[in-house]
Amino acid sequence: MLQRFQYAAPATRDELLGLLAERKGRARLLAGGTDLLVNIRNGAMKPELVINVKKVQGYSGITWSRSEGLVMRPATTINDVLRDKNVRDLFPLLSECAHDLASYQIRNRATVIGNVVNASPCSDMAPALLCLGAKAVIASKRGEREVPFAEFFKGVKKTVVQDDEILERIVVPAASSGARGLYRKLKRINGHDLGIVGVALMKKDGLLRLGISSSAPTPILVDGLKERDDIETIVAAARGAISPIGDVRCSKEYREYMVEVFVKRLFAEVK
Ligand SMILES: Cc1cc2nc3c(=O)[nH]c(=O)nc-3n(C[C@H](O)[C@H](O)[C@H](O)COP(=O)(O)OP(=O)(O)OC[C@H]3O[C@@H](n4cnc5c(N)ncnc54)[C@H](O)[C@@H]3O)c2cc1C
Repeated sequence: MLQRFQYAAPATRDELLGLLAERKGRARLLAGGTDLLVNIRNGAMKPELVINVKKVQGYSGITWSRSEGLVMRPATTINDVLRDKNVRDLFPLLSECAHDLASYQIRNRATVIGNVVNASPCSDMAPALLCLGAKAVIASKRGEREVPFAEFFKGVKKTVVQDDEILERIVVPAASSGARGLYRKLKRINGHDLGIVGVALMKKDGLLRLGISSSAPTPILVDGLKERDDIETIVAAARGAISPIGDVRCSKEYREYMVEVFVKRLFAEVK
């Protein structure tokens, strides 16, 4: 049974920021609801007020320009990402990760922003955003601030977003356009499932980055590598960065092993 809560669907940003400031800590934002409603249903979250972000003017769609980069908003769904030609042509790693997130039906509701604010270690969108050097633009009545995704995740289900704030835009810099990359996700079943391990590898302008999920308390970025580095160096960097646990899905050792397998495969596959 769902507990009782109030519901608001503001049409403007001002109204939404006002509600967040007024109900600080007692309100939760609702995007697709694919994480939030599960959490309310199982009692992990008990908001007094649920605020729908999807009706706010200017909060949907994806835009791309050389000056502003690729911008995703609170109502931008995973399927919006998959349908967007600019994403496919310029940021294929985003499409790769989006394609591996859940099923078509979930992707129709689930948003990119909900995925990163939920901050599960197995987030499928985080590896691409980390590799592409994306930043989060966070807003409240107090103003706006920008946080690179490399500093965004603070622990299991914890981010830098405060109770009176909304993650209003994800910006992928134009400088990352044209990056080559792939994502590999290990699951227990062939259909949709949360990841046992996920590895994204990106190459651009001689640099190489890894974004790894399900292998530490947060999704992680492995930076500072070069395309010309040998595979031993890259594998060692990945191994040094991860700190997986063993759980119902697999052992710690299997996660370590599969990160290494994926890094080696991706290194060869991303040309
Ligand atoms: C069956 C199923 C399968 C799934 N499979 C996967 C999978 O394979 N990979 C994966 O990564 N995830 C998976 N998920 C998790 C989930 O679908 C994703 O994390 C999804 O992207 C969450 O987006 P949402 O829009 O539904 O978020 P919501 O549930 O609406 O919100 C998630 C959290 O973010 C907060 N929030 C939402 N928008 C904002 C905002 N703009 N600013 C600040 N806070 C905000 C909410 O208050 C809530 O705490 C699955 C979930 C289900 C139910």
